[in-house]
Amino acid sequence: MALKFWTADVSNLSKNEVKKRLWEELWLKADIASRGVTISNAALQNAQVGDKFVEQNLGGGRNHQLSIGVELPGCFFLPYGLKIPFTWNKSSPYVVDFVDGKHYLTLEDKNLVPIRYAPRPKYHNQKTSDGIPLKLIGPGDFYDRNMTVFYSNECCYIERDEDCHFCNINYDKDLYTEKYGPYWRTPKQIAETVKAGFSEGVADHVTVTGGVIAERRELEYYTDVGESIRELLGVEAFNGTATVAAPVDFDNIPKLKEAGFRTTAMNLELWDKDYYKAVCPGKARNSGGWDNWLKALEYAVEVFGWGRVRSNFVPGIEPKAKTLQGFEYLSDKGVVCNFTTWAPNVGSALEGHRCPEAGWYVDLATKLAEMWKKAGFTADIIHDASGAATLSYDIFRIENDYFDILGAAGIKQNQVA
Ligand code: SF4
Repeated sequence: MALKFWTADVSNLSKNEVKKRLWEELWLKADIASRGVTISNAALQNAQVGDKFVEQNLGGGRNHQLSIGVELPGCFFLPYGLKIPFTWNKSSPYVVDFVDGKHYLTLEDKNLVPIRYAPRPKYHNQKTSDGIPLKLIGPGDFYDRNMTVFYSNECCYIERDEDCHFCNINYDKDLYTEKYGPYWRTPKQIAETVKAGFSEGVADHVTVTGGVIAERRELEYYTDVGESIRELLGVEAFNGTATVAAPVDFDNIPKLKEAGFRTTAMNLELWDKDYYKAVCPGKARNSGGWDNWLKALEYAVEVFGWGRVRSNFVPGIEPKAKTLQGFEYLSDKGVVCNFTTWAPNVGSALEGHRCPEAGWYVDLATKLAEMWKKAGFTADIIHDASGAATLSYDIFRIENDYFDILGAAGIKQNQVA
């Protein structure tokens, strides 16, 4: 479904002027990602989130504090069309406010720009054939054209106190279970959710992810999920990403492709091995460790193809030069690296820490977007491997003329298929 996510009048602007405005919004996005954003009571009461507009998922997510009992927006859009995920930080100087009947992003009591919230897909109100609300299984987003299915909300690394220091999955699990009961998604539930989202035109890509489980169980599970999706969609393969821990047995990698997934993802998170050992102890001590993760990513490119394998990072913990080394190495091997700004979120071991400033992330994202270009990745390839409107993806789309607002300004625009 072609929805319009921008509101600015660009009829009298040149291409360079539109791009300049998009870059200004990009800097704002980076600053909000770094410092978070909060919302006034007046805005909350008038936002219609959870009804007309998309709400946040339960729990902490990226928020700096617990949001139980508050229905916060999932994201909002700036006038030129950049999407801002709502990372809640009560102490942020950025406040979404309701002024003269309109919602504004404000900074220190000054109205910066009017904003709009994300339209809520209809399938978010539907349930699976066994009664589970689809939005709890795989929320989707018209803007990203992506659904993210969380098959579980726990990670086995907690058993030995080895969960990643930036991750709050196991903290969120307790909150979720308290409100909705135990959480484990069956392949049929996932397939029904994907079918509903794809049929409504919300998304054409699904990321399947969850906490780490034992390797044999993980493979069997993804095989069953893939078969269920194929059966329900009536296709041989589909635009889906199987997010897995690096397997020790590399024969498992082709089986993910045979199950119908177009892409796979193994998230390395950090490039420096010593930081990795300290910050991601579970990943470092299991799945063959950092070296095996790297070999698995390279082998996955042989199986899935150039640009069909993704690895997410959490930049801002190790030095930037280290992360860039990783981006460069992996891009040259055909792996799509990507990242969202590190949010020192509630319930993680690094809760209360601070991430780097906006400029740090804009520089990193610019360099990654240049590496994508050099590697020959297109906007479609990046979308299919990742699906999220990250800073790097925004920059890539600005610099390579993919933003649909350019078309409205009478400027030739490239299309994401
Ligand atoms: S491996 Fe790390 S990042 Fe992934 S779910 Fe487990 S604790 Fe979280």
